Amino acid sequence: QINSKSPLSPNSIATETAIPPARLKNSRSSITVLVQYFNHRVLIIRMEYKRSTTSMTPDQSGKVGVGMNANPLPFLTPRPERRRPDSRCADWNSSKAERDRGEVNIQVLLRCRPLSDEEQKCNVPKVITCNEHKREVSILQNVANKQVDKIFTFDKVFGPKAQQRSIYDQAIYPIVNEVLEGFNCTVFAYGQTGTGKTYTMEGGMRNKGGELPAEAGVIPRAVRQIFDTLEAQNADYSMKVTFLELYNEEIVDLLTTEDYTRSSDERQKKPISLMEDGKGCVFVRGLEEEAVYSANDIYNLLERGAAKRRTADTLLNKRSSRSHSVFTITVHVKQAAVGSEELVKYGKLNLVDLAGSENISRSGARDGRAREAGEINKSLLTLGRVINALVEHSGHVPYRDSKLTRLLRDSLGGKTKTCIIATVSPSAHCLDETLSTLDYAHRAKNIKNKPEANQKMSKAMLLKDMYLEIEKMKQDLRAAREKNGVYISHERYAQEEAEKKYMNFVVK
Ligand code: ADP
Ligand code: MG
Repeated sequence: QINSKSPLSPNSIATETAIPPARLKNSRSSITVLVQYFNHRVLIIRMEYKRSTTSMTPDQSGKVGVGMNANPLPFLTPRPERRRPDSRCADWNSSKAERDRGEVNIQVLLRCRPLSDEEQKCNVPKVITCNEHKREVSILQNVANKQVDKIFTFDKVFGPKAQQRSIYDQAIYPIVNEVLEGFNCTVFAYGQTGTGKTYTMEGGMRNKGGELPAEAGVIPRAVRQIFDTLEAQNADYSMKVTFLELYNEEIVDLLTTEDYTRSSDERQKKPISLMEDGKGCVFVRGLEEEAVYSANDIYNLLERGAAKRRTADTLLNKRSSRSHSVFTITVHVKQAAVGSEELVKYGKLNLVDLAGSENISRSGARDGRAREAGEINKSLLTLGRVINALVEHSGHVPYRDSKLTRLLRDSLGGKTKTCIIATVSPSAHCLDETLSTLDYAHRAKNIKNKPEANQKMSKAMLLKDMYLEIEKMKQDLRAAREKNGVYISHERYAQEEAEKKYMNFVVK
């Protein structure tokens, strides 16, 4: 409310004229109020609004938000108010109270892919046998000229015939439910190149009809589960994703749309920084966040991400197998109000496709790529050292030695629920690598995390965070303007033109 005693500085006033006390212009998305004060000066207040400010659920209106931090902010995409009360939200509260807060071991699953057509044609011998029922995998080794079976036990074992769906339903479905209950969860795919890490995480291509194909991997299935669950609960929610690649100890955003004002070199090299917030949390500054509205949307993002990966071939593999990719889904769900306070619960799911675990020297890395190989090794080696330190309870855990372990610190020995899917090939040609994967994964089983649900956020906290976010975006916009001129939406342009005309009319 502004009256003649308003303390506003006259410097902030756009123009000076005598006009009627107040005029109101109402458009679909904004209200502009012109207020006369000090008799001569006019204050312009524009309030942008949307019809419903209480609903967070996506309305198909497209992308929102930039940047990601350790405590990611939800977008508030409005949609007409939904039915209330939501009884299932109440169930979530009670399950939280019942939740076991003790230490839990990292879950380790093993998946053995089938022999490829080519391997079958060449009659490649198999050295792996999976017993899903006993959760055992045995590997046939030649020790002192004798064939010996070595047996490993995991939390779950999936043989070559295991379908994407059954792995998801048995192993990942419960994890996604935890995310919906407000936990952070991480799934790592670890294994030699060509053993099915990307197949397990992303899976086959989309179907034309829009339904998920049988080959769909963890990412599209997780997105669909989140949608299906929350829609069935009639919940108000928002879901957004980030997709980054860690290559040569540099973070690359796989979701940014190409910025053609930059040279192709600059575009490819634009690094994104890993920042610490002073409270022990690490966040990625400048990462694009994308709102998703259907499980099918996710394929556009995955395709965009895949297209961004460079494919500098070496003798053995491609960039995608020498880089780590981290796909993160963040879900915010509005809770039924308790008293006057509305709370929002959020959970985060990291889906990590690690670089191939094979011995780097075999990739034929040389010259310029030697450093690259070393740096990739650095993240993967540090991951191994972190696992060892945690298993051996040594005082110092070298999280800070690589970006991967800094980024996913909380997934190893922290409050996150973590699962590792180790992938192997059944082929005799991969015996050494398979053994090393089995050893590594078996060791990781001993890591204990202490999962804790994220603290719920109050609406006031959310609003405060969103104001901060707006402030940041304003700064970005200012920076962009200084460099490249002004870019605004058509809607906003039309609005501003109309306002200018109106102002001219008023001044005259
Ligand atoms: P990685 O990401 O570990 O390098 P990929 O996921 O690219 O390996 O898998 C290598 C090849 O094997 C791909 O052509 C993939 O489709 C196929 N593949 C992997 N796992 C399976 C599986 N369980 N069933 C059928 N095909 C598989
Ligand atoms: Mg891969």
